[in-house]
Amino acid sequence: MTNKFFSVDDIPRRRFLELGIKGGIALAAAPSLMSCLKRTGEAPPSAKFPLADLNKVIQRALSKGGEFGEVYLENRVSRSVLLEEGKFKSAVYGISRGAGVRVISGDKTGYAYTDDLSVESLLRAADVASYVARGSKAVAPVDIKEEKRPSFVAVKVPLQTVADEKRLEIMKRAHDAALAHDPKVKMASIDYYDEVRGRVLANSEGLYLEDELPLIFFIVQALAVGNDTSHMGRERLSRHAGIEMFDDLKPEDAARTCAREAVTMLEAKDAPAGKMDVVMQNGWGGVLVHEAVGHPLEGDNISRETGVFVGKLGKPVATPKFTMVDDGTLPCYRGTTDYDDEGTQMKRNVLIQEGTLVKYMTDILSAKQLKMERTGNGRRESFRYMPIVRMTNTFIEKGTDKPGDILASTPSGIYVQSLSGLSGGSVNPTDGVFNFTCREAYLIENGQKTVPVKGATLIGNCLDVIKGVDAVGDDLDFGPGICGKGQAAEVTAGQPTVRIRGINVGGSRARRS
Ligand SMILES: [Zn+2]
Repeated sequence: MTNKFFSVDDIPRRRFLELGIKGGIALAAAPSLMSCLKRTGEAPPSAKFPLADLNKVIQRALSKGGEFGEVYLENRVSRSVLLEEGKFKSAVYGISRGAGVRVISGDKTGYAYTDDLSVESLLRAADVASYVARGSKAVAPVDIKEEKRPSFVAVKVPLQTVADEKRLEIMKRAHDAALAHDPKVKMASIDYYDEVRGRVLANSEGLYLEDELPLIFFIVQALAVGNDTSHMGRERLSRHAGIEMFDDLKPEDAARTCAREAVTMLEAKDAPAGKMDVVMQNGWGGVLVHEAVGHPLEGDNISRETGVFVGKLGKPVATPKFTMVDDGTLPCYRGTTDYDDEGTQMKRNVLIQEGTLVKYMTDILSAKQLKMERTGNGRRESFRYMPIVRMTNTFIEKGTDKPGDILASTPSGIYVQSLSGLSGGSVNPTDGVFNFTCREAYLIENGQKTVPVKGATLIGNCLDVIKGVDAVGDDLDFGPGICGKGQAAEVTAGQPTVRIRGINVGGSRARRS
């Protein structure tokens, strides 16, 4: 069996630019940035089709057999702007439109996509996708009927109505705040990305849904130099929201958080190595369980009998203090959508309840294979990809311990303030072994956070970690990221402050000796 490795990033620069360009048309670049962006304020062109045409496509998809047929239409309009070394360096405006047709027959999936949104092209895609089902029993499709669902994404000021000067002004505010924080901050860079993704979904079960999802990501990086070293701090903001996101999550605050990290880490000493207790601050640290526990709980892995949680449903797998949830309904969160990219309603799925494994995450295919409910985790990067099982907003549920008490009752160990995303984490879902690099970490001495340490890596097995959690704070918080599994998905990872007993820490001191 081949092992697949997953990684999660806190939105690194390269990935960010790729996303900006993804399937899009680069229209603008500095120095004519402003004038080029300005003429692009229009709403995305509609991908709407008469329902009768979509019925025809679904019928064609199932004409050779198969039990499930689907059409997915997508319309994405995006903008990305980069501010670096005090200058706006690039701007990309993208339009990406297309459709994918899928057929499921037994365990097989046929998928074909086109970026030509004509009925003829959709019918051709349906022909291609239908080959997978040749000779199998056909299910007669149900005629589609439009359905309305409540939305978990509220927008006050739609991105389509925002002048580009406003975007540049927000970037400038963050840039200036990072540099003003401390003279040791020598450089700041700001990546801004937003998009509006229109989706239309129709399938042979009679479902027809359409919606429009806005998304913003905003990344601040600040480089501090001093003490014969340098450190790049990083902070991200992301929501499905209109531009009002920045009233709530201030760009200056993000910049100061990032600059503070950069300056603090200039004082960092080499990290110790060995088995020690780890206290992880609330927020993005949840990426550790996203990676080490979340991926192995994905139904496609389970149906292939891959990973440490196969056959463990209903059994204790973690300490009773540990509850883990995937919830795609948290209002406006980065991992939230109204329904997944197969039309299954988003919901709160408790995966591990007080230490007992109670649910796997599924898409339509793995739910059928495992004979389990659909959990709303079928997602795709774009119309170019078929949906697969993905997480949404995944977190350790809050507990009752006070974060201050957790630290005070830990005589020695490592305090992890933030974990690195940037190629810093990976997990092998087959055996649950992971490693993560700490971006900002401190020694714990006599129940107190003391000197910052650099180069600390957390290494372990996911089952040991969730059995080793012995304190769970009441301060649940989240951070945004990109999850990679052959295709990208927008996610958040979250946790309250937690303590994990006895994790292996690979330190920079050990590496050097
Ligand atoms: Zn992931």
